[in-house]
Amino acid sequence: MEGEAGERVDLTLLRRHLGAASLAVFLCAAGLPLAAPPADAAAPGVPRVSDIRAWTNEIYTRVAIDTGDEVSWQANTLRADPARNLPPRIFIDIRGAGIRDEILRKPVEVRNGLLRQVRAGRFDRDTVRVVIDLERESTYRVFALPGPFRIIVDIDGEGAIPVLPTSPEAVAPPGPVAAGPSPEDPAQPLITPPVSPRASPAGSAVPSAPPAIPPSVESPRAAASHPAPTRKHRVRVMIDPGHGGKDPGAIGPTGLKEKDVVLAIGRKIREKLSGSGEFDVRMTRDEDVFIPLEERTAMANKGRADIFVSLHINASRNRSAEGFSTYVLSRGASNREDLELAARENGVPIGKLQGVKFIIDDMFTGARKNESLRLAKTVNDAVVRHVSTRFPGAQSLGLKQAPFYVLVGARMTAVLVEASFISNAREESRLRDTSCLDGIADGVVEAVRYYGRNGIFAHSDY
Ligand SMILES: [Zn+2]
Repeated sequence: MEGEAGERVDLTLLRRHLGAASLAVFLCAAGLPLAAPPADAAAPGVPRVSDIRAWTNEIYTRVAIDTGDEVSWQANTLRADPARNLPPRIFIDIRGAGIRDEILRKPVEVRNGLLRQVRAGRFDRDTVRVVIDLERESTYRVFALPGPFRIIVDIDGEGAIPVLPTSPEAVAPPGPVAAGPSPEDPAQPLITPPVSPRASPAGSAVPSAPPAIPPSVESPRAAASHPAPTRKHRVRVMIDPGHGGKDPGAIGPTGLKEKDVVLAIGRKIREKLSGSGEFDVRMTRDEDVFIPLEERTAMANKGRADIFVSLHINASRNRSAEGFSTYVLSRGASNREDLELAARENGVPIGKLQGVKFIIDDMFTGARKNESLRLAKTVNDAVVRHVSTRFPGAQSLGLKQAPFYVLVGARMTAVLVEASFISNAREESRLRDTSCLDGIADGVVEAVRYYGRNGIFAHSDY
């Protein structure tokens, strides 16, 4: 059922997110030599690149390559080649896969200062190559998410452009990534070392090198502590009601659906926060639609949100489990229940959670994690307090950490709320009461207001 997402999204959705810009997905003769007609393109059971989606602004781009089934892949980079009029490139080789013909036939460009275009083609009989042409050299990370399988490329165009060493040896990371000549252009060295798919069970086992440039979240500006920064914009808040559309989320004993509850809470938060004019509040969804997890994060990043709040309702096989908890991203969890929760929210079996461990370590460190921890505790305390005034006895399970995919790659302070258990008959009944939803919303609003006045923002300078 998950596999249909990539098919359905297609380029219309892609264009919607690109706004005025448009995305290029086309076959470029230079750098993508056409091989003999592939035997696998339409063969049943053969993975294929079914869609390429992108979200981009001049400092951030996320590209998602949908293959549905797990594939073996490898990412690499090439420096600009002025003699051949080629820009810096990131390319991902996907082995043993076909590609949907429509992707080959869609020549459109972006050219927004960071991303020039994305193109795809058959590099050889067994390999599909997706090439991301950059406008300038940038730090990037590549990782894969399962269920359905998709390869995610996050490109960070913020901050200083890398100072390129004069010799190729000085920039090439150790290991096979840089060991051999590129099939696209053997003369070109790497520019910015990628984070390679070492933790992806299907990815090639390539040791990774640290990014050439620290992520922006670890920059001195972002890492600076109080006092609060001077802001040039309203505090941007992205509210993310979980699930939606074909994905109902958890379902209570009498049929209440998580996707409906969290959308109602999200709308209340938006209404309450928007009144003062102090906050610019957006939602990843404002209707009953399915949005992939990686797209929600990308929407927050593209919108340069300062705060990301993902809304969920917990569930457990233990029907008496109850209480509110608020999570931040971490590579693991302290107990089996939290891992099971993350697996369910990620839409994958628990055994698949391991694949993004390395990228979580890489992308969620330093000051931003501390800020997220602080916001998560503030949110949880406030939610429990507000709900308790209406429903005495509301329990707090406190601040927690788990590997939620929707938080992976978020560039801002990001938390995920599990607002009681829909599997608990008493809490499900409470969630049908609009005063409970108001209490949850009031708690989030109070915490965001507090944080907004005292916090540190990843994007405070633009
Ligand atoms: Zn959920």
